[in-house]
Amino acid sequence: MKRFFAVLSVLTLLLTGCADKSASISAHAKSRSIFAMDTYMELKAYGDNADAALDRAVSRINEIEAELSVTLPDSDISTLNASSGEPVEVSRDCAWLISNAIKYGDMTGGSLDITLYPVVKEWGFTTGDHNIPDAARLAELLSNVDYSAVSVDGTEVALPKNAEVDLGALAKGFTSSEVAAIFKEDGVRSAIVSLGGNVQAIGSKPDGSDWRVSVRDPFAPETDMCIVEISDAAVITSGNYERYFTGEDGRNYWHIIDPADGYPADNGLVSVTVIGSDGLMCDALSTALFVAGKDSAADIWRKEGGFELILVTDDAEVFYTQGLEGKFTNVSSMTAEVISR
Ligand code: AMP
Ligand code: MG
Repeated sequence: MKRFFAVLSVLTLLLTGCADKSASISAHAKSRSIFAMDTYMELKAYGDNADAALDRAVSRINEIEAELSVTLPDSDISTLNASSGEPVEVSRDCAWLISNAIKYGDMTGGSLDITLYPVVKEWGFTTGDHNIPDAARLAELLSNVDYSAVSVDGTEVALPKNAEVDLGALAKGFTSSEVAAIFKEDGVRSAIVSLGGNVQAIGSKPDGSDWRVSVRDPFAPETDMCIVEISDAAVITSGNYERYFTGEDGRNYWHIIDPADGYPADNGLVSVTVIGSDGLMCDALSTALFVAGKDSAADIWRKEGGFELILVTDDAEVFYTQGLEGKFTNVSSMTAEVISR
């Protein structure tokens, strides 16, 4: 419980930004704090319809969790994972996310691969019962990893016989986009949500200025590394400090896996933040570009557009893409360099 409140207070700080200046406005904010999708979520909305919109948003989050959870036995994902290769009728959300996962897998040269789930399980990241698999076991599991063999036809999804999927790499970004859509439908023009530290801003602050969102320092996760000023955008981070264990060999092993070898991705980056209007895209890419590494991430940014990046390398340098110039404030002692088009 103590941890719950500690986390909440961090989130509250994150979300209020300049708490002193907005104190009078905050009085009119309505908020909800929930635990869902294995994480703490804080939602805050302003305006007349805020309460009703927040209630709808919480229901929608619970609905998405019920569909996509890998642990709830009746979810679409559990049904799919037990399907032994037979086609399964799934919810529209589930089919939409799987088709997007395939799209972002293709966009990133296979760095995003939702069929890694058996490998993620083997490392113990789903249960907390951590284990360093040997190379033979990883090779065996990797023989069934291939997102491009998943097929989606409307709301019918078929996995290859021994494949299992997990949408943890992109579900929260999708959820925050869905919350944003509900707020807009309900006439909420100013809101901000944090789903386990992944932030989605709806409109700007009630006073019309941009939201100021902090991004953690991956080398000191209790500390801010930078502040970005945004409106109507998601700020989504994948980092090696978010979920990891220390093995008996003294090394850290984290939850983002490289489909190339089944080991935690170690391609020079310790955190990747993706900023853009499409939360699903930001979440899918934060995980994929963490795997891809700095040069590939920059190339994909140049080629695709529609998002901005903040990358932190394992030798403690920060790189941010050109579109963030004027909206990015480095508050760390690391040097920060711009990635140009
Ligand atoms: P995120 O925190 O958004 O970066 O997502 C990480 C989660 O996605 C992990 O906890 C795994 O469940 C899953 N995952 C890990 N590596 C990959 C990968 N390369 N492609 C797709 N999903 C992954
Ligand atoms: Mg992600």
